[in-house]
Amino acid sequence: MTPADFQALAEFLPADRIITAAPEVERLSRDFYWYSPILKRDLADKLAEVVIQPRSVDELRAAIQYAYHRKIPITLRGAGTGNYGQCIPTHGGILLDLAALDKIIEITADGLAVCEPAVRLGAIESAARQSGWELRCYPSTYVKASVAGFCAGGSGGIGSITWGGLRENGTVHALTILTIEENPREIRLSGQDIFKVLHAWGTNGVIIQVELRLAPRTLWAQIAVSHPTFERAFDFSEALALNDGFKKRLVTCFEWPIPSWFAPLQKWVPHGQALSFFEIADDQLERLTHSVGPGGGEVVFVSPYSEVRRGSQLSDFTWNHTTLWALKADPSLTYLQCGLDPKRAREQMRQLKQRFGSEYLMHVEIVKWDGIVTPGSLPVIRYTSDERLQEMIDFCGEIGVSVANPHVNFLEGSGRWRPDDEKLVAKQQYDPHGLLNPGKMRGFAATLEQTPTSPTGFVRAYGD
Ligand SMILES: Cc1cc2nc3c(=O)[nH]c(=O)nc-3n(C[C@H](O)[C@H](O)[C@H](O)COP(=O)(O)OP(=O)(O)OC[C@H]3O[C@@H](n4cnc5c(N)ncnc54)[C@H](O)[C@@H]3O)c2cc1C
Repeated sequence: MTPADFQALAEFLPADRIITAAPEVERLSRDFYWYSPILKRDLADKLAEVVIQPRSVDELRAAIQYAYHRKIPITLRGAGTGNYGQCIPTHGGILLDLAALDKIIEITADGLAVCEPAVRLGAIESAARQSGWELRCYPSTYVKASVAGFCAGGSGGIGSITWGGLRENGTVHALTILTIEENPREIRLSGQDIFKVLHAWGTNGVIIQVELRLAPRTLWAQIAVSHPTFERAFDFSEALALNDGFKKRLVTCFEWPIPSWFAPLQKWVPHGQALSFFEIADDQLERLTHSVGPGGGEVVFVSPYSEVRRGSQLSDFTWNHTTLWALKADPSLTYLQCGLDPKRAREQMRQLKQRFGSEYLMHVEIVKWDGIVTPGSLPVIRYTSDERLQEMIDFCGEIGVSVANPHVNFLEGSGRWRPDDEKLVAKQQYDPHGLLNPGKMRGFAATLEQTPTSPTGFVRAYGD
């Protein structure tokens, strides 16, 4: 970008929408990429040249038109809680921080949340609960994370044991996007079409409205159970996950010493024990408590699910928050994202422990993927070198454990690419010059138009 670009932006956007101060640009150009020692090294110097914070879709549209006119890269930011550098601008340009587009438009009587892109998931959960509904699934970052950021970057979380991933069961009812064209089109995608932009890392359209299907509200209870070994904790957790008689939102288990890193919980975390965290329907708590003893387990914590952010929740220590607590305790730790085979999970975990020992610590989130109760796994890994990390990923592949690699910064490498290339086709249609989050969708082959156009020319055209 040139000084003329900054001048031109200031001609059609109010001054407080444009951020050029280096520390602020740097802060907003970051997410939790540093979870990965590889991304931490590779992305450390990647920054936007300017941050634009639109307060309306019209301002957003004007910024897009300008970027299109000048062929300036655009990266989209919700709350910046992604952990693969998804919203880090690798080619400079404009960072569009959508945080101000944060209104819940409607919670309909039949349980649909219609939202602007940067509504925080915690705000949707609160509003939904007041109307007798709740989110079907949400990431452990729900207090901060935006709904469009979840759709573009996330996969599932608390609730996925019942409702599956975000991509399942029509949970994302519709997404409305703006295209990156001379005259950005507004397109509402529903049904199978949502997959064009769902989990596309903001590479092929700017989500300006999300419609999420909700679940009927449940009064939840949180419970932590300890077991002397991880194997017993897993047996108990899996049995609960498979038992349709229990209504569940969270089934997590951790190998020791992972629980020792949950600093705020040390008052009751038993030393040397494996732990399981559950969220189950409050009226089933007594039944669950009675089932704990026979396997050698012990209930070590019980609390109702209080509303969003009334004190910390057990879920604040699950999903990728587990890795955060581990990293706080020991910065040489990192993680992987694995899918165990439901029929061979015990054998696979035994093989992994045999090969890597305490370098590979078990953290399992049991979910229902495609209708099948599946042990998802976010193992805490001791990082020593890129080669050793790769050896672990390769070994997982050899024994049939799938890996969505969180140490790469492009969509196809992260393991969630669909073979029909629908995201790539959508990019060719909605972002023909490849301006959105360039570099993150490697398959995008279109050549960029190299002819720069004059900034003042744009301002005249926009003014017209
Ligand atoms: C501690 C921790 C725990 C986590 N736990 C989970 C978890 O349980 N489950 C899970 O799925 N993820 C989890 N994550 C990842 C992340 O928090 C979630 O995916 C979250 O929903 C991202 O939302 P965000 O608003 O922060 O998105 P951002 O990080 O701002 O953006 C994520 C991606 O979405 C794109 N994007 C943002 N807004 C738009 C838009 N309007 N249109 C198009 N693209 C857009 C960005 O360009 C980027 O590629 C975790 C991360 C951390 C650090």
